[in-house]
Amino acid sequence: MSNKVHLGHTARKRFGQNFLTDENVINRIVGAISPDNDHVMVEIGPGLAALTEPVATSIDKLIVVELDKDLVERLQEHPVLKDKLEIHQGDALKFDFNQLVQQDKQMKVFGNLPYNISTPLMFHLFEFAEHIKNMHFMLQKEVVLRLSAAPGTKAYGRLTVMAQYHCQVMPVLEVPPGCFTPPPKVDSAVVRLVPYKEKPWPCKDVELLRNLTTTAFNMRRKTLRNNLKQMLTDEDFEQLGIDAALRPEQIRVDQYVAMANHVFDKK
Ligand code: SAM
Repeated sequence: MSNKVHLGHTARKRFGQNFLTDENVINRIVGAISPDNDHVMVEIGPGLAALTEPVATSIDKLIVVELDKDLVERLQEHPVLKDKLEIHQGDALKFDFNQLVQQDKQMKVFGNLPYNISTPLMFHLFEFAEHIKNMHFMLQKEVVLRLSAAPGTKAYGRLTVMAQYHCQVMPVLEVPPGCFTPPPKVDSAVVRLVPYKEKPWPCKDVELLRNLTTTAFNMRRKTLRNNLKQMLTDEDFEQLGIDAALRPEQIRVDQYVAMANHVFDKK
C-alpha cells in the first residue's frame, strides 16, 4: 500500500495532510494538552482522529474545525466519537473562534497543523488570545524556532515579536518525519503557547504593532531608521532611547511595543 494511504484515506497534499501515527508522540501531546471539562476544548484539523480520539474520550465534548469534507464525513459517522464532537466544516483561517466562547470558560486550542497555513493561522489565533487559556500545536520545527527565538538571532522576526507579545512560548518536543504517514519533508516540533492574562508590555493598538513589525522586518538587512522612516523620525528614536542604526532583529519585543505606542501617541 502507498505510504500516502492511512486508514483507507489518501492523504491530500493541498490540505497539508501528514497523519500522526506514533503512539508515544500522541500520548505525550495529549498529556501536554491535559484535556478537561473546565475549558472549551478545540482542535484544528482533526484529520483521522489521532489526537481527537484520546482527547474526546477523556472529556464530555470536543469542538473540531476541519476543512476536508471527506474527513468531516468520517468523523460524523465515527461510532465512538460522533456523540462527543461538535464538528465545524471549514477553513480555520476564516473561523470566528469568538463564537465558541462561553461566559466563564476559556478555550484550550490544539492541533497538528497543516504546515502551509501555520503562520497565518498563528496570526489569526492571536486575535482571540484573551479567550484562550493555552494552545498546543505541532508545527514545522523551523516555525517553532521562530516563535521562541531570541533577539539577535536569524530566526527572530515579525512572527516572534507578535507571538511573544501575546504569549509565553515554550517548545515541548521535537518530532521526526517517521512519526507521520506520509512523512513530511521537514522536521516537526510541538509548541505550547500561553496567552498572557496581563501583558508584560501593553500595546495601545495591536493592529499598529502588527503593521510596524511587518514594515520593520520588510528588509532585514536595512536599519530601523531606513525601514521605519515613514513612521518614526530620528528624534522619535532618540526619545525612545532606541538606536536607529540597529537592524530589525536586534530589537526586543518591549522596544517594538514602545515604538508602536509612540506612533499611536503622535497621531
Ligand atoms: N490531526 C491529524 C493528525 O494529527 O494525524 C491530522 C493532521 S494533518 C497535518 C492537518 C489536518 O488539518 C488535516 O486533517 C487537514 O485536512 C486539516 N486542514 C488543512 N487545512 C485546514 C484549514 N484551513 N482549516 C482546518 N483544517 C485544515
